[in-house]
Amino acid sequence: MISAIPQSDHALEETPLQRYESIVKGGRLVIPFLGELRGDLGIREGRIVAIAEEIPASAGESVIDARGMMVFPGAVDSHYHVGIYRPHSEDAESESRSSLVGGVTALISYFRTGQNYLGTTGPYREIFPRVLALSDGHFYTDYAYHLAIMDSVQLDEIEMLVDDFGIASFKFYMFYKGLNLASDSTAGSAYTMAENYDLGHLYRMMERITAIAAQRRTAGRISLSLHCENPEIIRVFIEEVKRHGPGGLAGYSRSRPPLSERLSIHEAGVLADATGCPLNLLHLSSREALQAAMEIRTRYPQLDIVCETTLHHLALTCDTAGGIKGKVNPPLRTRADAEFLWQGIHSGRVDTVASDHACCQELDKDEDDLWRSLPGFGGSALLYPVLLSEGWHKRGIPPVRLAELAAANPARHFGLYPRKGTIAIGADADLALVDPGKTQRVHAAALHSAQEYSPFEGMELTGWPVATILRGQVQYKDGEVVGGKIGRYLKRPLPGE
Ligand SMILES: [Zn+2]
Repeated sequence: MISAIPQSDHALEETPLQRYESIVKGGRLVIPFLGELRGDLGIREGRIVAIAEEIPASAGESVIDARGMMVFPGAVDSHYHVGIYRPHSEDAESESRSSLVGGVTALISYFRTGQNYLGTTGPYREIFPRVLALSDGHFYTDYAYHLAIMDSVQLDEIEMLVDDFGIASFKFYMFYKGLNLASDSTAGSAYTMAENYDLGHLYRMMERITAIAAQRRTAGRISLSLHCENPEIIRVFIEEVKRHGPGGLAGYSRSRPPLSERLSIHEAGVLADATGCPLNLLHLSSREALQAAMEIRTRYPQLDIVCETTLHHLALTCDTAGGIKGKVNPPLRTRADAEFLWQGIHSGRVDTVASDHACCQELDKDEDDLWRSLPGFGGSALLYPVLLSEGWHKRGIPPVRLAELAAANPARHFGLYPRKGTIAIGADADLALVDPGKTQRVHAAALHSAQEYSPFEGMELTGWPVATILRGQVQYKDGEVVGGKIGRYLKRPLPGE
């Protein structure tokens, strides 16, 4: 028999009153892999230290009123491009500020040597400290970096990057080897500033990453992210579209067809099978791409393969994004492709949703010249609003599943869980308070980004964050950024303790 532990009134009297720096009170908590429940949160030193049905307001130095709100874990936007087209520190400031609007409290940005970004090449031992220095003190959210390994010198640095800098994820762009074929610019190496950027280089990279991932198994996942488009297919389709059309974004989609994603995913699958490398298949944009991802998962069941799609591939199509500002790689597709991706979310085949945020200003988008316009645009400010509006309200995907896609899964797959991406005792108090019924049209001006336009402009969305909290600090409230540049670099794996 279990006997109750005797408790005297005296013992209760001696228990000191719990004090919290702040309390989030009256909200509906959306806890990944658990569900929704009514509860209050007690926060101390930036962490969640109490979850209870009721925490008295008197126990907190400040109280955040969450009545009528849903309390989500702060989103972890795991696909981002800080500094790709603009000075790094400036971009970090404006774009991480914009992310707060979407309920994002941590972002993981891609960085590489070559053209764009810092426009330089060399060993990361010299370059990455510069990136960290340009980042320090410039972020409104916490941040981490994925690094693209561009040459053989950097191949030898992978282990050092894992151990000394806490880099847990790397990147390869499968279409870069053909940049010299696909454009009339000079040699492809002028863009990558690297020789032999090909499948042989990818094979070596997978070997290195696999070996280190196996050695560091207890220290969290170490993986390779892939941009899957095949350059030879792109080359011939661009030629055809330039000659015969169609124009606009439909032409752009035709010029980089889903077939190019499919082929590239299968090439990656063969090499991953030969090496055992854990993969992240980025921004799957089409039915063919997601099907190919499922095919390699089925064919190589021992492999660790994470599937990502983006907000824009879910919510926009080549007909709705308004002019060529919606140019992005891989391109926006058809309504049927987007619906197939939503089904992938419904059925659990898609693991993460990210923004692929790349602030690309109007001057870099030439309405009269699709081919000269730079690819990419921002979307981080719409992460929760698009998922809640289009996913939950319109398609019935439960909010808890959306919290898994936007917060818990990216945190798990990229070495940040459970300090980030969930609501739990000991987790950072990173939260998005969402008004589930708030309806608002997207206006670029309200997104607090340096990008003057949004391909999502005018879209009516229901379910907006009204407050975004980073480590207990209110950073964004009622449409205004109220916090400071307190974002910290997240060296991975982030310790749970
Ligand atoms: Zn990207």
